[in-house]
Amino acid sequence: MCRVDDPETRVVHAGLPAPVDGAPFLPGPVLAAPFHLRGDPELPTREGYARFTTPTWEAFEAAVGELEGGSTVLFPSGMAALSAALLSALRPGDVLVAPSDAYPGVRAVCHDHLEPIGVECRLVPTDEAAIRAALPGATAVWVESPSNPGLDVLDLAPLAADVHAAGAVLLVDNTLAGPLRVRPLELGADVSMLSASKQLTGHSDLVLGTVTVRDPVRLAALRAWRTTVGAIPGAVEAWLAHRSLATLGVRTARQEDTARALVAALRGREDVTDVRWPQVGPVVCFTLRDAATARAFLGHCRLVAEATSFGGVHSSAERRARWGTDAVAEGWIRLSVGVEATADVVADVLAALDLAG
Ligand SMILES: *Cc1c(COP(=O)(O)O)cnc(C)c1O
Repeated sequence: MCRVDDPETRVVHAGLPAPVDGAPFLPGPVLAAPFHLRGDPELPTREGYARFTTPTWEAFEAAVGELEGGSTVLFPSGMAALSAALLSALRPGDVLVAPSDAYPGVRAVCHDHLEPIGVECRLVPTDEAAIRAALPGATAVWVESPSNPGLDVLDLAPLAADVHAAGAVLLVDNTLAGPLRVRPLELGADVSMLSASKQLTGHSDLVLGTVTVRDPVRLAALRAWRTTVGAIPGAVEAWLAHRSLATLGVRTARQEDTARALVAALRGREDVTDVRWPQVGPVVCFTLRDAATARAFLGHCRLVAEATSFGGVHSSAERRARWGTDAVAEGWIRLSVGVEATADVVADVLAALDLAG
């Protein structure tokens, strides 16, 4: 028997077909619009037209589903996944509790699409007491843990129990921790969503998102939403994501080693305050004196590239307040460590801090 208990082993093999002589480990992308389909198919047919499903999506969906512990539906971005999870489920009169301090896209969906159709949105900080206080009458609760960019962590299992006791469902944006570190469905959540554009695939070369569920009714609603709205992922992106998934374990291990070393180095400095790292994943946040110091720091980095997003193999950082979307200090830096040698990343950050003054 081969051992596949450890998620770090599973991630290497997830979603791959059984070995066949002469066949590749990961079959290439299937590029098709219609497939051959004779006779009178029963609608909705699964394989007949590539807006419904493709073998390439299904292989990647099987892989993510295996890691997250449910059935996965692939979307063309994290935002498409998030929107599908909310818009396919909520109806006029429903009440959504959502974070006021997490990824700004969820707030945009609330303001622009849910409130206009009569869904009440209660925006609360990523804080268990605040979420519990907002539960009476709620239909659904959306949380992000660790939150982005604050990196606040929620204890999901007791929260899921309280959300269910209040008659609501729990939806979790699991992008920051990812399925090797946290599996929300195992902790009682009803929905786990990932932006696959980040750590999951990790090469800064594609945009995709996933929603994973256990309930077959919810699964059917998500697939129907994708087919009807018609915003679908490309086969090449799905294939590339699957190829990149295999290295998630080794990438994460290196990134967490570097994050740990960087946090230790930053905590020793007087010019750096509010150092945050949730013990998992590549994102480290810290605050410099003001916007000018933060800009100078980013300008002096040689290895750490200035870019938004996180979870890529290349170290990157940004001054988060430049977007104006998050309530963060002007000098707040969100830094994502890559897979470069730990000592080089730490040295680059420390040298840039010294030069920034
Ligand atoms: C990036 C991100 C999203 C949106 O994902 P896209 O793939 O960019 O559409 C959602 N949630 C979190 C936590 C993210 O970091």
